[in-house]
Amino acid sequence: MNRAARGRPETTLAAGEAPVATLPGAGPRVAERLAARGLRTLQDLWLHLPLRYEDRTRLTPIRELRPGETAQVEGRVEAVERGFRYRPTLRVAIGDDSRATLVLRFFHFRSAQAAQFAPGRRIRAYGQARPGSHGLEMVHPSYRLLSDEDDGELRDCLDPVYPAVEGVGPALIRRLIDEALKRLPPAPELELLPDALRDALSLPTLREALLAVHRPPPGADLAQLALGLHPAQRRLALEELLAHHLSLRRQRVALQRHGAEPIRVKGALAKRLREALPFALTRAQQRVFAEVRADLARAEPMLRLVQGDVGSGKTVVAALAALLAVEAGRQVALMAPTELLAEQHLNHFRAWLEPLGVRVAWLAGKVGGKARQAVLADIASGAAQVVVGTHALMQEAVAFDDLALCIVDEQHRFGVHQRLALRDKGRSGAHVPHQLVMTATPIPRTLAMTAYADLDVSVIDELPPGRTPVQTVAVSAERRPEVIERIRAACAEGRQAYWVCTLIEDSEEVAAQAAQSTYESLSQQLPGLRVGLVHGRMKAREKQDAMRAFKDGAIQLLVATTVIEVGVDVPNASLMLIENAERLGLAQLHQLRGRVGRGAAASTCVLLYQPPLSAMARARIETMRRTTDGFIIAEKDLELRGPGELLGTRQTGLAQFRVADLSRDAGLLPQVRDSADRLLAEAPALAEALVKRWVGHAAEYAGA
Ligand code: ADP
Ligand code: MG
Repeated sequence: MNRAARGRPETTLAAGEAPVATLPGAGPRVAERLAARGLRTLQDLWLHLPLRYEDRTRLTPIRELRPGETAQVEGRVEAVERGFRYRPTLRVAIGDDSRATLVLRFFHFRSAQAAQFAPGRRIRAYGQARPGSHGLEMVHPSYRLLSDEDDGELRDCLDPVYPAVEGVGPALIRRLIDEALKRLPPAPELELLPDALRDALSLPTLREALLAVHRPPPGADLAQLALGLHPAQRRLALEELLAHHLSLRRQRVALQRHGAEPIRVKGALAKRLREALPFALTRAQQRVFAEVRADLARAEPMLRLVQGDVGSGKTVVAALAALLAVEAGRQVALMAPTELLAEQHLNHFRAWLEPLGVRVAWLAGKVGGKARQAVLADIASGAAQVVVGTHALMQEAVAFDDLALCIVDEQHRFGVHQRLALRDKGRSGAHVPHQLVMTATPIPRTLAMTAYADLDVSVIDELPPGRTPVQTVAVSAERRPEVIERIRAACAEGRQAYWVCTLIEDSEEVAAQAAQSTYESLSQQLPGLRVGLVHGRMKAREKQDAMRAFKDGAIQLLVATTVIEVGVDVPNASLMLIENAERLGLAQLHQLRGRVGRGAAASTCVLLYQPPLSAMARARIETMRRTTDGFIIAEKDLELRGPGELLGTRQTGLAQFRVADLSRDAGLLPQVRDSADRLLAEAPALAEALVKRWVGHAAEYAGA
């Protein structure tokens, strides 16, 4: 362990915690605007990293400029031309000693500005060279006029370009960061990472890393910096990932400190359900149920994530877990992100549990008036043993008598805060309920361990037997008529089909309209076929009726928006068509496709796309054609678009990183975990300081 490990973190943090207002140039107004961007302390400024860099440390001879290259040049004005043909244009030709000419072109300019460019004036410009009508040109370069006496000294480091802060100009931000950097403590005081770890990875100290990233010296590897692969950036990314990982682990420890009422029962109810089911559990389901059961029997709250691909049968595992709590005489809450999905769970739970004499209640936003009062009363008295619902379960008016287990489905749609809010419904004294989280989003193992460091993970890695993998084909939209013919034929054979409408805009309103008009045109083109419609703008009742009619076979072709994405289950549907498939991400395509192939019949998924396909879209569609394995698709997704989107960063309440990028830095994750173990064991104070430095306020709910 290094010096810091032996007890310096307090002083380290103190230096960084000085308010921004202590810097010259940061008056109250500026401080306020910086605070609005989360920049309150010197440390916040240290960690406010450049987006990119501009190299004004050298001059490029005009003759050596290449199209596309961004560079600094210096020359004298040779000619000025103002044009007005289409819009005002100012063209300034400059030449240098390399006897080549470059045109600087401006579309927005004031007359006074134009007048500065007298022939012979010395000018230095920075911008991107592009082919123009007379050789290379720079459009709206940044530039500076130099007097002849000016010795034209060059910058001694790359110019950092910082993310903009509203109301604070770039020059001021830069100056404030300069001041903040002057106040960086000496390396040993700032350092929180153990020397051994830094040495093992040959990483610089934090001080070196910050200086290198903010003020890269001339000759620094710009390409490496742009890719985020510079050792200084990797050093920062490692520290940040470590801090977030520690923060999640701390949350877990904090939660488990509360303790929970153990659930130890014979399992008679669960046994009866298993006997009543028309199928046997897969081995994976049995294993996961056993894991859950063991968790529940402990005196600390279960925090378990059950990951299983679409159709792997998570619901029945949840129902079995619920029965353990019910047998113990206690209550269970099951929360799903959409009403449709919650209703489906309700139907399953009613069908499975009510024959066993268990009372299942329903609570969604739309349950109102007397019905709501009655449900709330049943929840409060304990008469409702299992309560299924949506976000409505988290409202204040909902008070459980004795909540033992919270089950949350499709958790990537809920934030951590919401999960905690539901859990708090069951707080009594020092005890909290057990939590079971289910997700169909397969997450690559490396990510799961970081993203869910606060949860134990079980994977249902086996599909129920008798399923034939879905065959996927990609078809250009020009062949729509053929596809419609194919649907007619399939339905004539007694099969059922989905037609999924998608739109660029993330608006259920617009999507609903598109679905409506597709519904009308398909009804016309397929006379004699029973066509139905479901979209997010319909009343819950109508949606439910349409889904039920589809389930019962009364509807043969269901036109839908992506509301059917999550969890909806109609085993007889064996054909799915996805319109504009090129617009959807892999995860969403995979979820949608999971709606078919749930029965014994061979299923097909048709990806209808608008040509021409972008390279990304082609790669996605190719992946979909090649595999139905959710984990392979997730790996590919990670590769194609990065983890932020994969995990739905904003919705999970998961960390937004300042430096780290989970796909780029995935290689650091094993180190992160090992280091976390060591730090927690050997230097808990350092761990604490790291979390405070990087996660700070975001971690406040950690002690909840
Ligand atoms: P998901 O994991 O996507 O939520 P579900 O729980 O909805 O999957 O299960 C998908 C379908 O498979 C349901 O119709 C369910 O009843 C059925 N199922 C679940 N487990 C088995 C099993 N072991 N054998 C056969 N069918 C099963
Ligand atoms: Mg499900």
